[in-house]
Amino acid sequence: MARYSGPVCRLCRREGMKLYLKGEKCYTEKCPVVRRAKPPGMHAETMRRKVSEFAVRLREKQRLRRIYGVLETQFRRYFAEAARFKGITGTRLLQLLETRLDNVIYRLGLCTSRKEARQAVVHGHITVNGRKVTIPSYNVAPSDVIGLTARGRAHPVIKENAVATGRGRPSWLEFDSGRAEGRVLALPAREEIDVPINEQLVVEFYSR
Ligand code: SF4
Repeated sequence: MARYSGPVCRLCRREGMKLYLKGEKCYTEKCPVVRRAKPPGMHAETMRRKVSEFAVRLREKQRLRRIYGVLETQFRRYFAEAARFKGITGTRLLQLLETRLDNVIYRLGLCTSRKEARQAVVHGHITVNGRKVTIPSYNVAPSDVIGLTARGRAHPVIKENAVATGRGRPSWLEFDSGRAEGRVLALPAREEIDVPINEQLVVEFYSR
């Protein structure tokens, strides 16, 4: 599946918030959102535009899509699947994004960004229930066990991250640092999904 490969800090500046796309740098003062909190572009500061209802919903959708590193076509597919679900569409959409394998690796603290986690999956460092999975968009389910292949266990960065305490693992995931293994305890509830997004606006964007 294709992915965005352009400058990522620009995306944060466009959205006017930290999307945490670069790993450790995002937590330092070098973060461009901290240093110059203005949108990208020469005339960004001088342009004054009235923000339409459509623009508000569009920005919210773009933020969510960019946080998880998903391109538009795939994001639409996630929305279509969430809309078929009997329940709250916005919450289901977030669950589908949150249970992507690359996001789970990031949440477990094995990688410092979703981009790095995606690479770990594609490079064959990750297993689900003992079998190697190389698809970053693979959706994990409750009771799945996420582990490392022999190459993954030998990877210096992953090895170091596995023993670190991480930045707070979510309550729907369990991690055994001795075995470098994670387990999905349940599907995440809305309050367990730590993204500063109003998902209702995203639903409204696609329901126009
Ligand atoms: Fe965004 Fe991280 Fe770049 Fe800051 S350092 S602008 S949070 S990607």
